[in-house]
Amino acid sequence: MTFACPNRDDDGRCRMLDTLCVPGRPGCVQEGTATFALDVETRIRMAEEQAALLEAKKKSALRRR
Ligand code: SF4
Repeated sequence: MTFACPNRDDDGRCRMLDTLCVPGRPGCVQEGTATFALDVETRIRMAEEQAALLEAKKKSALRRR
């Protein structure tokens, strides 16, 4: 099944919750409506780690200029 949320921006952030998009997270339109392979706490942690890694890569690339 696929799902496209109109609240998700091009950077993977939720406009409605002003945080990272993690479908099913508290306050999300998908909260309680779907079953996910991983629990929401795990998916939030993974999304935060991925965002932090991307941010570090951006900063590293800027320092090399
Ligand atoms: S967190 Fe939920 S409401 Fe927000 S963009 Fe993602 S799917 Fe949509």
